[in-house]
Amino acid sequence: MSTLIRGGTVIKGSGDTVIEGGAVVIRDGRIADVLDIRGADPWGADRDFAGDVIDASGCVVMPGLINSHTHGVTPGALFPSAAPALTEERWMGNLDRHLLAGTTTVLSLCGFASMDDVREADRRHAVHVRGATTHLPHCLQAAGMADGQGLTAEARELTVERMLLDGAVAIGELGGGQTLGGGGQDLVYIPAAIHKVSGILITIDQARRIKEAVLGRFIDAAALNVVALAEAAKEAGLAEAFTATQLAKLVTDSVMPSFVPAIEGIREGVQAAAKFGVPAIVHSASATAGVLRELMFELDGGEATVIAAHANHPSHTPDEARELAVLGRKMGWPAEASVFDLLHRKHTVTTREHWDLLLREPDLISVIGTDYGHDGDHDELISAVQDIAAFGHRSLAGAVAMATSAVAGLIPGIAPASGRLEAGCIADVVVARADDLRDVRFVLVEGVCVVRDGQLTPEAHR
Ligand SMILES: [Zn+2]
Repeated sequence: MSTLIRGGTVIKGSGDTVIEGGAVVIRDGRIADVLDIRGADPWGADRDFAGDVIDASGCVVMPGLINSHTHGVTPGALFPSAAPALTEERWMGNLDRHLLAGTTTVLSLCGFASMDDVREADRRHAVHVRGATTHLPHCLQAAGMADGQGLTAEARELTVERMLLDGAVAIGELGGGQTLGGGGQDLVYIPAAIHKVSGILITIDQARRIKEAVLGRFIDAAALNVVALAEAAKEAGLAEAFTATQLAKLVTDSVMPSFVPAIEGIREGVQAAAKFGVPAIVHSASATAGVLRELMFELDGGEATVIAAHANHPSHTPDEARELAVLGRKMGWPAEASVFDLLHRKHTVTTREHWDLLLREPDLISVIGTDYGHDGDHDELISAVQDIAAFGHRSLAGAVAMATSAVAGLIPGIAPASGRLEAGCIADVVVARADDLRDVRFVLVEGVCVVRDGQLTPEAHR
């Protein structure tokens, strides 16, 4: 089975090489050749090429994107809080969205799934699905206290060591908004607790304001601000239903039980990463800034790769985010920026200030991912690539590298022999319209066309 993709601008993924009017030849699932055919087309009008020919005129041809920060792409427990598993329709649907937007490899950071769960998703869908693990005592304890309803008996028995032997490629996500009093608490658990007692539904912003009045931005029981709490309660329509004491207790009871073990779980996971020689991926947010700083100094000079996920998390102020990322750079911690939904959808993140501040510096952010957004409705990774180039933070080739070769380089098991358009590499290839990359026309996975003219082909599902 051979394919020729011709007439487009080829971005090889390494961060610099761009070939205007290039051609990519694919044979038996691998890249056979990448050619500059301007003025000298060896195939004439394609007459001599035996195989599928894709006309990429007006398009960019790039490696399939590699997203190292996803959730909800497998069966098994969801998030670091081990929430109930998504239905098959939902996780397959999430993988469809990734694929239609040019992502051909995802790393699931729902660390309580088993590798059987990961392999099922990988087998059923054309997207390469990789797994990570947080099967550690404190992480398990934190999940159980925040939620834990998705934990199977099997998952409770698993260990990081067994998961790594079974093919997991990283330890993470260590910590999360659900276990650390972050966005997951604002979105789900605090509103649910309030609704259960009072029947009143509050918004994510109202929940955040109430939580910050009780525990501050750094999740500290001593931070209670009674005046701010009274105002937040009134604004959320809760002044009649709760006294300040009741509301403070409800928020504290929702957030704090998982908080201490979750912080311990981050330490435990980073230590395991150093021991087993795999990358750890830690949740960077205002609530974890303290422990991350401590770990940066403790590990000083160590070999462990620790990736600060969503270094642009909006719970940091922009300056705090930058300071932590600058320290991380000095201490050898790569940083990932998550697009969340900050570009278009804006359900959960409405500012792009952190994003621009961190990306503006040439070497503060190593890779980009999506994270989950509200109910999986995140902006697409390819949108983030386009945005980074459009705002001049990187060249287009540089932006593509942040979602391809740089990710493959940072997490060795995620996509070996992928992330570049070079002879011998796996033929995961994306063809997207040059004037708007979000219009993904073709996607090939291992040389098989799984998106054609913007639509999934039957080969996308197996
Ligand atoms: Zn996170």
